[in-house]
Amino acid sequence: MKLVGTAEVVQGAKTQGYLQVGSDTDGTPFRIPVLVVAGAKPGPTVWVHGCIHGEEYGGAASIIRLVQELDPQHLAGTLVGVPVTNLPSFKAHSRISPLDGANLNRIFPGNPEGTYSFRLAHALLEAMATTADWVLDFHSGGIGAEVPFYAIYDDNGSLASRRAAWLAERIGVDTLWRSAGDFRGTVTAQAAARGIPAVTVECGGGNVTVEHEEQFKATIRNALHALDMLPGTAPVQPQYRIVTDGAFMFTGHGGLFVPACPVGAVLKKGDLIGRVINLYGEVVEEMVNPVEEAWIAATGHRYWPTEPGQLIAEALPVQGRRQASDFPG
Ligand SMILES: [Zn+2]
Repeated sequence: MKLVGTAEVVQGAKTQGYLQVGSDTDGTPFRIPVLVVAGAKPGPTVWVHGCIHGEEYGGAASIIRLVQELDPQHLAGTLVGVPVTNLPSFKAHSRISPLDGANLNRIFPGNPEGTYSFRLAHALLEAMATTADWVLDFHSGGIGAEVPFYAIYDDNGSLASRRAAWLAERIGVDTLWRSAGDFRGTVTAQAAARGIPAVTVECGGGNVTVEHEEQFKATIRNALHALDMLPGTAPVQPQYRIVTDGAFMFTGHGGLFVPACPVGAVLKKGDLIGRVINLYGEVVEEMVNPVEEAWIAATGHRYWPTEPGQLIAEALPVQGRRQASDFPG
């Protein structure tokens, strides 16, 4: 009998269980819910999780909803859904862990002897390594920021990285962040390092709109189409915008942030990203695009407060454009 945590994988059925990783400060075990949809026919296993950053709720909601909608009789292979991977951070509405202050998506592969977040990273990666052929990792701008719908893959030059790029081209997005080494502590990078193609999907932030939910759900369905696990065809765009590791913009002053462009905008060098005004209405800071051609991958919300040193926007350099790749063998 194959298990994912305590969830049995039963051909042609939906099952559930949990992964147990450590315990809360009062001794209550952390039981991370796991949903399994095992197809009537054999095929690969896709693992999809949300809430590595606990306050990015769109992924969790969409995984729960899509699992409810899927019919195992139509599926070839297995979908493993983990709606909320980081329970302490989820409960605290926080990007970082209230237990140890760690940003879970910067500390993979973790450490089984470390503080809770490090143990969690280690346990998650071990569970993926024994279960998953492909990984989808769902994120958003969190409570305080908005991001467009796009995908990220880690390019370490391996076959797993090329397969991640291939899958990222087929989930419905037109922009791919090819991360080339600045973020080696992410789950995506460390899954790729273990030979598992992994794609991060970014979408929305703050409230989970119907559109965000539909985009995340479409991502899973499209991945299943691309991998021949569900009947149907995955969308391929005429061209993909490739962006790369780039300028994270931090405010230098406190006040209210006023974005000057929507997320997903393409800006020339010197174009205005946003302003900070003080509580008298005076402009205390103007943030301009520092790179030749930038794609705006995140901004803070309009008129939300900001303090010095807060990450307020991401201006990712546009590296080029390309057509969809063939399946890397
Ligand atoms: Zn995130």
